[in-house]
Amino acid sequence: MVHAPERPTHGAPPVRINLYSDTQTRPSQAMKAAMMAAEVGDEQHGDDPTVHALCDRMAALLGKEAAMFLPSGTMCNVVALNTHCRNGDEVVAHESAHILTSEGGSHAAIAGVQINPLRGPRGMFDAETLRGAIRARGRYSPPQTLLEIEQTANIGGGAVWPVNLLNELTGIAHEQGWATHMDGARLMNACVAANLSAAEMCAGFDTVWLDFTKGLGAPLGAVLAGSEEFIGRAWRWKQRLGGSMRQAGICAAACLYALDHNIDRLADDHANARALAAGLRQMEGVAVEEPDTNLVYFDPAGAGMTAAALQGALRAEGIAVSALGGRLRACTHLDVASPMIGETLEAIRRLLRA
Ligand SMILES: *Cc1c(COP(=O)(O)O)cnc(C)c1O
Repeated sequence: MVHAPERPTHGAPPVRINLYSDTQTRPSQAMKAAMMAAEVGDEQHGDDPTVHALCDRMAALLGKEAAMFLPSGTMCNVVALNTHCRNGDEVVAHESAHILTSEGGSHAAIAGVQINPLRGPRGMFDAETLRGAIRARGRYSPPQTLLEIEQTANIGGGAVWPVNLLNELTGIAHEQGWATHMDGARLMNACVAANLSAAEMCAGFDTVWLDFTKGLGAPLGAVLAGSEEFIGRAWRWKQRLGGSMRQAGICAAACLYALDHNIDRLADDHANARALAAGLRQMEGVAVEEPDTNLVYFDPAGAGMTAAALQGALRAEGIAVSALGGRLRACTHLDVASPMIGETLEAIRRLLRA
């Protein structure tokens, strides 16, 4: 089957209020000015000073020895799985994990690993569930080598794993001799919501990465961190996958700008998400999950309109939300100002009444 590139906005009215995803932010003028001023070099040769500055800063932020700049979060996961595991290994993760649901099967196609999908509410699982997944060792069992956890849990509703639970789970994994990897696409949302530093949040993890395109407002880029030894080995996978770049400092400058200006303000996104959820909850028949961070999942079916119908009707008015697993997802981010929340609630109330 051929999957042609989609052009989802083709022919639709312009989007006024973009709650589709925190990936749809546009770089601000100030961020672009920082990019224009970046000192650059050949990243693939280890010569880009702005990339070095970003990696040093990220290693410190995440409390790890070393870090590596990559074009996308997906590539961070692909590089990490390939560096941690050998083919035939088993990775233990939640059944809704991005590595399982949204990376084109790269864990199987490229790393040759299987994923043991654990269940639990809101994209999370507890220690008992993890203990239940430990296999007896022997020639019949796939070697279990990696625990992978997503902070925040995306399909879990942007839920924040409590740090005590993370420490308990990584402790169990390490007792088994497994490595631990955090998909921290929205790690800073979790840290702002829980009022913890990134280093505290990922202390139990051997490797962790952060996406600069999820609510931090950069046009591309993600940083993977771990021990010197791990990052050294990971460079072979970065090269193999075509993730070694050239004058990448132009993009690293946007990420440095985001670290300076776009982290504390994530609290505003969380407040907007809570306001949206509170407004939706007042509409009879609308099922709403209380957001921990910036993702609001809701289902209008009980109010007499399917998720798909409401999504289409909102889009016709220039308001974009996404549909995931029969529910709608509204995502707040730095291009969503608080008056837009009131406007969106007004539109939904009117459409549901009609
Ligand atoms: C978006 C996302 C990724 C992938 O990041 P890209 O930068 O889009 O490649 C991985 N994991 C989670 C949880 C995500 O939300």
